[in-house]
Amino acid sequence: MNIAGLPAMTSVLEHPCFNDEAHERIGRIHLPVAPRCNIQCNYCEHRMCADIQHPGWAARLLSEAEAVDLVRSVIVERQAYDFVVGVAGPGDALANDKTFHVLASIRGMHPQLTTCLCTNGLLLDDRLHDIVEAGVRTITVTVNVTDSRVGKDIYSRVHYQDTTYQGEEAAAILIEKQFLGIRGAVAAGLHVKANTVLVPGVNDEHLLELARQLRDTGVTVMNIMPLIPAGKMKNYRPPSCGELQRARQQCAEVIRQFHSCEQCRADVIFLPSR
Ligand code: SF4
Ligand code: SF4
Repeated sequence: MNIAGLPAMTSVLEHPCFNDEAHERIGRIHLPVAPRCNIQCNYCEHRMCADIQHPGWAARLLSEAEAVDLVRSVIVERQAYDFVVGVAGPGDALANDKTFHVLASIRGMHPQLTTCLCTNGLLLDDRLHDIVEAGVRTITVTVNVTDSRVGKDIYSRVHYQDTTYQGEEAAAILIEKQFLGIRGAVAAGLHVKANTVLVPGVNDEHLLELARQLRDTGVTVMNIMPLIPAGKMKNYRPPSCGELQRARQQCAEVIRQFHSCEQCRADVIFLPSR
């Protein structure tokens, strides 16, 4: 079996979460190796659960060896690199050293494979060197707002460098770190997508300004996702289809939109049929 000879994906247009056209054609595997998180989003509820489709949830954590072996076995079985491999939880990818070990190991064994990660961005600037060293070239940063006065209603807590911040101060630190990190990532040649959770009555009036700032910082594509009411926001309402569509249309005037997001689990395995 000549795995090394298989064709590699060459462009971000071949990434299923950067390009709607590639979404069904290219597969995606999330490796649940990152349990810790360094912030608290009010819509987040951590759960280990096998049966329900929900972002951030996983049936169980994988060890580094299990994660690497899973990827190897899929490549052997498919004889193709027609999927991307990323770390998207169950916590924050960058708050867990295992993320870097796993992605670097996979990169070392399968340099043709596209690897990616999803982060809240708090540590993006601090860990940029490690991301690049691990061979990751596409990242997603969840950015919900640019104004800390609004952000305080979305985030309850941020833990950075041994200090826990709350309220507006927490949101201000997170937002500053997110944009600092994105700027650095773009300068380092990474492709950056922004995920944004649309929370009606909280950040809906602020998305256009967010879209402008994302564009100006060099983000490639924006993915506006509907709130799934959970955690401290379990009694909030999700946006209607019309509200989601309007937000995407409005922001599309400023930055390219991604429409195919399925709000995947932290252990999703989707492989295209052949
Ligand atoms: S960054 Fe992700 S894992 Fe952390 S609290 Fe927010 S949604 Fe949950
Ligand atoms: S949650 Fe959305 S952006 Fe992330 S892997 Fe799934 S489809 Fe792609």
